[in-house]
Parts: sequence; C-alpha cells; structure tokens
Amino acid sequence: METRLVDRYGRVHDYLRISVTDRCNLRCLYCMPAEGVEFMPHNKLLTNDEIEEVVRAAAKLGVRKIRLTGGEPTVRAGLPQLIKRIASVPGIIDVALTTNGLLLGNMAADLYEAGLQRVNISIDSLQPERFKQMTRGGDLSKVLASIEKCVQLGLSPIKLNVVLVRGYNEDEFDDFLRLTIDRPLTVRFIEYMPIGGRQADWKHNYIALEERLHASQFGRAAVPLAKPDHGGPAEYYRIPDALGSFGLIHPVSEHFCDTCNRLRLTADGFLKPCLYWSDEFQIRRYIGDEHALMNALLRSLDAKPLNHEMAREWSGQQLSHEPTTRTMSQIGG
Ligand code: SAM
Ligand code: SF4
Repeated sequence: METRLVDRYGRVHDYLRISVTDRCNLRCLYCMPAEGVEFMPHNKLLTNDEIEEVVRAAAKLGVRKIRLTGGEPTVRAGLPQLIKRIASVPGIIDVALTTNGLLLGNMAADLYEAGLQRVNISIDSLQPERFKQMTRGGDLSKVLASIEKCVQLGLSPIKLNVVLVRGYNEDEFDDFLRLTIDRPLTVRFIEYMPIGGRQADWKHNYIALEERLHASQFGRAAVPLAKPDHGGPAEYYRIPDALGSFGLIHPVSEHFCDTCNRLRLTADGFLKPCLYWSDEFQIRRYIGDEHALMNALLRSLDAKPLNHEMAREWSGQQLSHEPTTRTMSQIGG
C-alpha cells in the first residue's frame, strides 16, 4: 500500500480538516441561509472514538496537522477530550481550531491544556451592530473578550479570519490593519467564496482582496513577509514596526490549488478531497478496519481535481462538473 497521501498531480496531503459538528450558534450571512439549515441528527455525527480512528489512519499516511472546525466546534460536548486524544496520536504534530470565538473565552485554558496549539477566530466587523447583522445575532464583546483571553494565555499565533463582503465590511479593512500594530495578532482577510448555494448573494457581494489592498494607503505601506514554514494559502504582510501581521487569502481571484495539501472530513463521516466540488466519500463504514480505512483515505484522492472553478463561475462560464451543495457550515471552511 502507498504510504503517503499523494494525488495524481503529485500534491502531498499532510493536513486534515475535521468538522466536528454542523451545528452553530451563529448564522453568518456568507455561510448559511437566514433560516439556517437542518442540522444532522446526533447519531449521524462521528463519535470521538471514530474521529480518533480516522486520525490514526491518516497519521500513518503522513498527515501531520489537524484542524478542528464546524459548524461551531466549541458547541460540541467533550471538545477538550477529543483534542487530547488527537494530540496524542503518534505523528500528529499540530492541532488547531477554527472558531467564532463566542464560547472560547471560558474554554481556552482547557483546550490548550488538552493540546491545542493554535486558534483562528472569525471576526468580520469591529462594530457591534454590524457584527450582529453579519453574524445574524452575534455578540462582538464576547469574541473580543475571547481574543483577549487567548492573548493573556500567551497563545501564539492568534489568527483572526475576516471574510470581506461588499456593502458590509470592506470599509473596515484599515481598522483591522490597525489591530495588528500593537497586538501580536495575525489578521487574515478571506475572499467570499460561492459555496453551498450562496451564488446569488456571492455575485453581488464578492470583493477581490488585491483591489481592497491597493485602495488602502495603509495597506500599500505594508511589507510582504516570507511564507511561514507551515505554508498555507495566505500571503502575509507587516505594517512597518507593527507587532502583528496580516494576510490575504484569495481563492477566487488567484487560486492556490497547485499547493493544496488538505483533505476534509465532514461531521457525518464523508471525506471531501476539494472544498468546492461535490465529490465525497463515505468512510464511516470502514472505521474498525484500519487497513480499509487507510485504503479509503488513499482512494479519496484518486479523483481530486487539479483546481476549483470559482473564477469560471464568476465569469458565468460552464463548469466542468458539479459544485457541492453543502453549506460552508456543513463542510468546515
Ligand atoms: N464556526 C467557525 C468559524 O466561523 O470560525 C468554524 C467554521 S466556519 C465554516 C470556518 C471559516 O469559514 C470561518 O472563518 C468563516 O468565516 C469561513 N467562511 C464561511 N463561509 C464562507 C464563505 N462563503 N466564503 C469564505 N469564507 C467562509
Ligand atoms: Fe457558524 Fe462559522 Fe458559519 Fe458563522 S462561519 S455561521 S460561525 S459555521
């Protein structure tokens, strides 16, 4: 058996993003419809035992980095225990979390004690009313308090994810850059992606990040940084003398598929080789048989396409096959 997750284009996969729940305590306008989505019944979600087994099999195939996401991962009961189990799997050297931060303040110390190494917190506005509007009900003060808590705990790096949405928050670009001046924070701006039936809103609200950077005098003064060792899709910059940095993640205007190193596992046990396309592989049935599970992980890469087609979708061109109908909250971002 092949011992590494290498696809037909030679891309080595050492990163698994695991959605631990599709449930969420927010309804961000770029992620879910206003009426929400029907949540999976609890018995459909992979258990901690099952997730650990998948991680063990993946680690034997060279996966080194795990990111827990959702839905909102902090609403899953027993998250610290799950992190502890994943962090102790031989071969796993990095366990990270993406969260909306609402519940993180009270949990951060426990999560880090359990073995969490890094956290990304999503925050799309620094204005309480606008934040509430974009997240459909979120309390900004709770997210800011969680960020403070993580800074106090000395966690590093703390990354803030900001999806720029035209007509909502693009005027806060400089405010987010200012956050990086005297705080050890990394702000990452993310382009709005057309995932899971959000196409109509997307065409209206998508904004290319380069365009926003060049429109900002502050942003233009920033200095590009070398790519961090762990790679990743962001291009990083620093404002001269700032303690923190900022990054641009522009999957639509300039895709980074040629360096894709990630596989995704949904909360109901499907492997997704690409965020954009509908292809997915049910692997729950192989849990309990490590050899079969490793085989399924390897096979899931067989059909991994070279790239997504968000830019084609933008320009109204025919797509080569079917995009996913899962929402971001059902995939994990
Ligand atoms: N609930 C957690 C959170 O919001 O951080 C984790 C799950 S969320 C799906 C993961 C990331 O995907 C978040 O940073 C969110 O902002 C981002 N996201 C969701 N929908 C998106 C979209 N249509 N385009 C770009 N990013 C999106
Ligand atoms: Fe929930 Fe995260 Fe989606 Fe917002 S982006 S609705 S917090 S899953």
